[in-house]
Amino acid sequence: MANLLWLADVARQAGLDVEECDDWTTRGRTYCTMRPKGVVCHHTAGPAAGDMPSLKLLITGRKGLPGPLSHYGLGRSGKVYVVAAGTANHAGAGGWKNLDSNCDVVGIEAENTGKDPWPKVQLDAYVVLVAAICDHLGIDTSMVAAHREWAPSRKPDPHSIDMDDFRGWVQNVRSGTPAAVAPPAQREPDSVFEIGRVLVSRRINDFHPDVRRAQGLLAAYSAVGPGSMDGVAGPKFEKSVQAFQQQKGLVVDGEVGDITWRALEGAD
Ligand SMILES: [Zn+2]
Repeated sequence: MANLLWLADVARQAGLDVEECDDWTTRGRTYCTMRPKGVVCHHTAGPAAGDMPSLKLLITGRKGLPGPLSHYGLGRSGKVYVVAAGTANHAGAGGWKNLDSNCDVVGIEAENTGKDPWPKVQLDAYVVLVAAICDHLGIDTSMVAAHREWAPSRKPDPHSIDMDDFRGWVQNVRSGTPAAVAPPAQREPDSVFEIGRVLVSRRINDFHPDVRRAQGLLAAYSAVGPGSMDGVAGPKFEKSVQAFQQQKGLVVDGEVGDITWRALEGAD
């Protein structure tokens, strides 16, 4: 029975860009019913070009391993593809904590060749998606595993992600800690953006939970869309802050200082 009918809503409510694949609500293996208490993170080892070139494979499977091969696909752009609401052939033999079956774990296949660097926007979306799943299931963040932790002798994925760091970022998102995902040290922001009392990078694609919260609040104004709710203080976000400030008769500076925060929070 394909019973994980919440997959799309949970991702959308986390502010992610979501595409629902045809027939996802009825897609799944039938050898058992999903009873998820954990999450397994993968990379596709798929082609280098395109946002989610492995999507068809995730749906139909491959010779010797029928699809679906995951519940979610995660594109290079951070877009979430909802593949199947039922049991998926993704984790296989192995285990994590007290879990040992595909029916115990939600599977996410993130598009990556298996050696390319992760785009920051994709990695950020990965963290946000996993946090949203954990919140929905009411499970501890320690129940999130890499496939290589589930099956150490067989699997390398997801490559180059330190899972203790990853679980730490997930936990930060879940607890609303600022600077949830540590920005790569080698990049210097060229300007900063005031949000509440913290300064965040304006130019580079750095996820910030306060920005995401502000985007969620801005979305309550039908006339003022926040663009994508990506937690990034980019130009679209600034424009939508300015539109909001204009509408409320505030100083239009595009920054979310104390006054604008208060206006946003009293919004609905
Ligand atoms: Zn895998």
